[in-house]
Amino acid sequence: EAIELAELAKRMGIKANEMIAKLMTLGVMATVNQTIDFETATLVATEFDFDVEKASFEEEALLNHEIDGDDEDKKIGRAPVVTIMGHVDHGKTSLLDVIRKSKITSGEAGGITQHIGAYNVETPNGGRVTFLDTPGHAAFTAMRSRGAQVTDIVILVVAADDGVMPQTIEAINHSKAAGVPVVVAVNKMDKAGADPDRIMRELSELDLLAEEWGGSVIFVKVSAKTGEGIDDLLEMVLLQSEVLELKANPDRKAMGYVVESRLDTGRGAVATVLVKQGTLSDGDPIVCGLYSGRIRAMIDDSGSRIDAAGPSTPVEIIGLSGVPDAGDEFIAVASDKDAKQIAGNRMQKQRAKELAKKSRANLEKMFENLGSAEVKELKLIVKADVQGSIEALNDSLKDLAKEEVEIKIVHSGAGTINESDVALAAVSDAIIVGFNVRPSPQIRKLAKDEHVDMRFYDIIYNVINDIKAALDGMMPSTF
Ligand code: GDP
Repeated sequence: EAIELAELAKRMGIKANEMIAKLMTLGVMATVNQTIDFETATLVATEFDFDVEKASFEEEALLNHEIDGDDEDKKIGRAPVVTIMGHVDHGKTSLLDVIRKSKITSGEAGGITQHIGAYNVETPNGGRVTFLDTPGHAAFTAMRSRGAQVTDIVILVVAADDGVMPQTIEAINHSKAAGVPVVVAVNKMDKAGADPDRIMRELSELDLLAEEWGGSVIFVKVSAKTGEGIDDLLEMVLLQSEVLELKANPDRKAMGYVVESRLDTGRGAVATVLVKQGTLSDGDPIVCGLYSGRIRAMIDDSGSRIDAAGPSTPVEIIGLSGVPDAGDEFIAVASDKDAKQIAGNRMQKQRAKELAKKSRANLEKMFENLGSAEVKELKLIVKADVQGSIEALNDSLKDLAKEEVEIKIVHSGAGTINESDVALAAVSDAIIVGFNVRPSPQIRKLAKDEHVDMRFYDIIYNVINDIKAALDGMMPSTF
């Protein structure tokens, strides 16, 4: 696959010269009549903010997201997927353990449970609930940031002898942001100081009003230590899930999300996935994040090999070409060829994105990158040896700002350049200015990986000169 440079430029509606110049900045020397390969074409197209439509179009067709199997009448109820959240030491891990132990039948794989990142239990009344094994909102939000809405219900654990704490509030806010309903487990009821009324009162002030008090939130009193209330908690989770009418069609190709993944020395890429729709079967060709493969083996939460996994079933899968990230979507497709093609397209796009990242927040290129924004802005993070230098720097920098170009100091402080400065620079497209400070080799490497531009000075005059030159470059031409 290749295309003539002139042809590509024409299709994109830009001048061939512009394209040649852009290619040069990417390290590719080309002439008008030269043909460029697909990868380079994708790259340069991305640079000009073009999406590579051909690839995404094909991908949509091959993925076949909406198949007729999604008819309402083909859907049946599925188990709710639950994440346990709450303040540290309030009993999240203990609850996950007691639920897992009490519910896994002793015959299963000698009663030894497998930690695969999620497990499924049967409630006393024969219902099923799937638990994600990573408690806490860090994992929950990491998955959400990748677009995966895996959790249906959050169990908010609050220790009856401790009350609402900072991470309790964080957990409530994360659940709210995700629109996921909360069931409250008032834990440690066996302890002498247990005061469940206090928990209900404190939570009512945070908009979680208990049913007993006329609200709609289910509260269950439990003890992970004695096992009190655990069955009740599971039934209440099911009750809450009935309201949500969770349904899935098991009779279609599977799709779902990665819960956990790792590289195993013997087995290669191993991922635990949770099926959301359809049924995943042994031998299915799949696409998972940037990778493809064919299911070579599936292992369930009791360590047994299975050949089919329906909705809300967590399974460990083997057979992917690489290790996907937690929160990545997986989808079964028609053939190995389709799987490879989709994964290949995604990989290419990813590379193009990575390369595009390289050109960001680079002082010389600031002008190009800012494109046609009306008010141009130069974002800086200023670190210096002492507070006095920062003030002097900030003052002189502010004086430099011109009408059409703003200088925005995203962050400044005394001290060496650290990881958080680099992270902030990366997300806000800022340049780091270090005055009388030098970063460690680790930080230099991190900045390089993140393509963050760092500059070091010992003389204020030099800082001002450099920034001035950059600002002049950023000023729109007046003719
Ligand atoms: P996490 O940080 O939320 O995962 O909390 P853990 O599950 O690690 O529990 C913290 C501590 O509280 C541990 O020492 C547990 O043994 C204890 N703990 C947890 N649940 C209960 C309970 O219901 N009763 C009592 N007495 N102790 C508990």
